[in-house]
Amino acid sequence: MMTEFGLIAQAAALCQKSTSNGFEGIGDDCAILPVGNGEALVYTADLLVEGVHFLRHAATPEEIAHKALHVNLSDVAAMGVRPVATLLSVALPRETMTGDWAERFMQGYIAASNEASVALVGGDTTASQRDIVINVTAIGRGPEAHLKRRSGAEIGDWICVGAPLGASGAGLRDILAGNHDTPAARIHKRPQAQIEEGVWLGSRREVHAMMDISDGIASDLKHLFDRSHCGAEVELTQLPIAPGADEELALTAGEEYSLLFTVEAAALEQLRSDYQKQFGTPPHPVGRIVPRTEKPLRWLRNGVEIEGTWQGFRHY
Ligand code: ADP
Ligand code: MG
Repeated sequence: MMTEFGLIAQAAALCQKSTSNGFEGIGDDCAILPVGNGEALVYTADLLVEGVHFLRHAATPEEIAHKALHVNLSDVAAMGVRPVATLLSVALPRETMTGDWAERFMQGYIAASNEASVALVGGDTTASQRDIVINVTAIGRGPEAHLKRRSGAEIGDWICVGAPLGASGAGLRDILAGNHDTPAARIHKRPQAQIEEGVWLGSRREVHAMMDISDGIASDLKHLFDRSHCGAEVELTQLPIAPGADEELALTAGEEYSLLFTVEAAALEQLRSDYQKQFGTPPHPVGRIVPRTEKPLRWLRNGVEIEGTWQGFRHY
């Protein structure tokens, strides 16, 4: 069977022969369009499907709206620039329109957009036979020189994560066990994109590559070092594990939206201290970018290599 990544690779390969109209397309957290004067626009789209990404009765309409927005803002922030606007498309079954679901969803979406200083500038609304489907397209804008691609990592870079990992996965576990009000459950229901962190890291030249963690670091790190034609070593004892989570969740749980970035080794200490001053918490160095070998990803525990078969979230 075709995997999600296989289908994306096929689309990317077919697009090689098509027109690009000045866009740098498939493969990063956002597509890039340089617009002159050293500025660029970036574009991303993420889809939320009822029963796959959320359960209608386990989350409020406001929470679902917040999540639909932030998963997209996270991809813009991961490029190192500021999200400025979104388009919102919804397919809604009849009962969401007769009750107050749709109204509350829209109010929640606008409140979350205002909080993030992002404008809603368009979208589409249609009926759905059964499930709620939500698509957000987010647009970001910033200096071209600030853009951080997945492909920018250099051998010797430190690999850092911007926030502790596993909270969202621990929250989902709590919710499925009937505990809806734990700190981790609240993070799962209201994931917060690292917008200011992404924009700030974008302005730092020593940050070479960046992406957000949406499918778990075990899977997402691979996208980063593959596109950079490098390998990676991760020291498991350095993984920042969120309260309520464990190592397995920190490595594999999706819907995290922490930033994953690489930093020139000589600049790491200064960057850590500046980031801590700016945001109150430090970024966490978890490993190094290394030359590519036949086994590009190596897991270490206290410096000793161990076998790890962790997989991130997969749709198929
Ligand atoms: P992310 O988790 O950052 O949203 P994805 O893993 O969903 O990234 O997608 C990887 C890349 O593939 C991105 O550049 C995305 O825009 C692109 N992509 C995903 N699905 C499609 C599709 N159906 N058609 C074209 N490009 C796609
Ligand atoms: Mg992403």
